[in-house]
Amino acid sequence: MTHASARPEADYNRLTPAAQERFDQVMDLADNTTDNGEYTALMLAAAALAGLHIPYGAEIRKCACSCYCPAIFDPADPDAHVIEETGGYNLGRVQCPTCADRHRETA
Ligand SMILES: [Zn+2]
Ligand SMILES: [Zn+2]
Repeated sequence: MTHASARPEADYNRLTPAAQERFDQVMDLADNTTDNGEYTALMLAAAALAGLHIPYGAEIRKCACSCYCPAIFDPADPDAHVIEETGGYNLGRVQCPTCADRHRETA
């Protein structure tokens, strides 16, 4: 481990195509489930696929910025920016802290 950042971040583009496919699938399921326990489990699974270790109950998001940023990050980060609340789904659209800083979007 040479990466010393305290932020649990991963780069989607560095995942293998197979891992990307599974990651998308799991995030889709997480977006659509109405079961809290299942949602928590899916978040853990998605994080594991991205190579991240998050505590039970934590969440991850893929950056929803229009720059096609590949960051997978913790939406609870105070620097992350919510573009759009969940709107009936679980995930909503959230920008990673770097994008929130560089090109903040509004819904
Ligand atoms: Zn981003
Ligand atoms: Zn961006």
